[in-house]
Amino acid sequence: MYTTFPVIGHDWAVAQMQRAFNNGRVRHAFLLQGPASIGKTTFARSIAMALNCTNEPKPCGECRACRLIASNGHPDIAIVEAERIGGTLKINQIRELQRQLALRPYEGRYRVAILRRFQEAQAAAQNAILKTLEEPVGNVVLILTAEEPSAILPTIHSRCQIFNLRPLSITSTTDALERSWGVERDKASVLAHLSAGRIGWAVRSLEDEKELEFRQNAISLLEQSLNSTRVQCFQLVDGLNLDKSRTLDMLDFWQTYWRDVMLLAVGSKAALTNIDHEASLITVAQHVGQDDAQRALEATRTALIQLSGNANSRLCLEVLMLNYPKLN
Ligand SMILES: [Zn+2]
Repeated sequence: MYTTFPVIGHDWAVAQMQRAFNNGRVRHAFLLQGPASIGKTTFARSIAMALNCTNEPKPCGECRACRLIASNGHPDIAIVEAERIGGTLKINQIRELQRQLALRPYEGRYRVAILRRFQEAQAAAQNAILKTLEEPVGNVVLILTAEEPSAILPTIHSRCQIFNLRPLSITSTTDALERSWGVERDKASVLAHLSAGRIGWAVRSLEDEKELEFRQNAISLLEQSLNSTRVQCFQLVDGLNLDKSRTLDMLDFWQTYWRDVMLLAVGSKAALTNIDHEASLITVAQHVGQDDAQRALEATRTALIQLSGNANSRLCLEVLMLNYPKLN
């Protein structure tokens, strides 16, 4: 389908949204679910553009409205999120937003609120936004993004059009890095693999080499813990100085690691994420086998969910390392 939405990947979701625009049947509330850094906010912003664009076809990407939205400077588009990743989206932020939404659009046709990482919204904040969802106003559109759907009230789910977004394919991530960021093909391919289709992370690591270094350290730490005693594991965790956001990043990488071990343990031919650690992955897969790899993967996912809530980072990591299989 022809579309001008400035979104990388997520073709089916963009096509569905484009059809809604073509038919003049755009809903007033959306929930974009999926892992971090796969382009949920970019998709949300492109919906806001299409709603307020003054050219054809929408979004044109060039009119004043499109440009202001792309640079987060449009007066009718509000982005609401917890003060930091791993923080809490509070009820007073929702009340403030509701005051803004009650006003007529200042410049555009629609007021659009993008509520990022809505899994971090406290219960009172979720209940408060329900009121806006239950009494839709013609020129107000809400777009929620979330990594962890289980943390969101079912009543919110039922009032939104839901898009379950997945990481991009390695090929489309590689193509995008090459085409839109001018990355040389081989480098783009490696980055695409390491990113596991999280294009946002791939782009961040282009701009800041520390991202790659952080990932390398995260994987090394995990491999070290597999060869460590219980006491040594506690020392490893004690030696870390990570805030919650970085701990979540680290667990994302650990998740890709166990997924790779699983793939190797079952003899799958699917592409590995951590292609630069293939040798050690093969060793780990031979030692731990499918069941232990599966358990480690699940334990990592559970830790991610707990940590997205109010769990203590250090305790979470200690429990996790105890649940991981040992190589010696
Ligand atoms: Zn435009």
